[in-house]
Amino acid sequence: MKVSKVMVIGAGQMGSGIAQVCAQAGYQVLLNDLKQEFVERGLGIINKNLSRNVDKGRMTGEQKQEVSARLTASTDLNDAAQVDLVIEAAVENMEIKTKIFAQLDEIAPAHAILASNTSSLPITEIAAATKRPEKVIGMHFMNPVPVMKLVEIIRGLATADEVYQVIEDMTKTLSKVPVEVNDFPGFVSNRVLMPMINEAVFTLYEGVATKEAIDEVMKLGMNHPMGPLTLADFIGLDTCLYIMETLHEGFGDDKYRPCPLLRKYVKAGWLGKKTGRGFYTYE
Ligand code: NAD
Repeated sequence: MKVSKVMVIGAGQMGSGIAQVCAQAGYQVLLNDLKQEFVERGLGIINKNLSRNVDKGRMTGEQKQEVSARLTASTDLNDAAQVDLVIEAAVENMEIKTKIFAQLDEIAPAHAILASNTSSLPITEIAAATKRPEKVIGMHFMNPVPVMKLVEIIRGLATADEVYQVIEDMTKTLSKVPVEVNDFPGFVSNRVLMPMINEAVFTLYEGVATKEAIDEVMKLGMNHPMGPLTLADFIGLDTCLYIMETLHEGFGDDKYRPCPLLRKYVKAGWLGKKTGRGFYTYE
């Protein structure tokens, strides 16, 4: 099967990045969100990224126009009737995702593959909301999508081999590196990363060190490009909390319990960079 038309659902941080890399690779892309203003915000982010690429000599003005012309705004899920692949990047919430997948199953053509960019939710459970679980797969892009090379490709229990192959090949056309993993809570990336971030929050909570000191130790001592608390702010503290809850529930092991301080920040609406305040404040 050849993928030529893609719908990306959710025009937030991740969805806009995914739409951008797909359009840059030559795919026709429908960028969908609940409201026109949300889609426009996503298209605005893409436009800014593309302009930066032109300024830095990475692409010509003409190429930017061509990429932009391949992007279409959508606020109607029925537009999925025209596509070969849907990549869902709506909020990290099982109820919302299963609802979207059940609707997509009714709308998308029979050959269409339905992928989710979930950071931690079971692909097998999302697939069970459809009548085509063999065509449901995880495509876990990293943030920021235009920069990061990895895409974790998650096989659900029922994902067909040929569907895995189509997605692996398609990922390579985006100039990304696909890595195959099986469907267990947090997959590989967040099973390893998120408990580290949560432990950094506990370290702050217990007064072991300041936020700056914790980040500095991990940057200079472990050669991480960014400290764990800064990284949490970039990912979004709501997303971090949701992933910890998924690990906690999925494994039934208290070693994954979310730090109360992380919960408190999320309750306060301090969600990180996207809301201007998390562990740090942003302009
Ligand atoms: P975000 O909050 O920036 O964007 C989510 C977008 O989805 C919003 O614009 C929202 O309006 C939209 N949305 C919500 N419900 C919708 C619906 N029913 N239909 C269409 N659009 C809907 O979140 P994000 O950081 O872009 O995360 C999106 C997904 O990507 C989540 O599943 C998250 O776990 C995953 N993810 C996030 C990161 C990260 O670093 N932030 C990394 C990898 C994967």
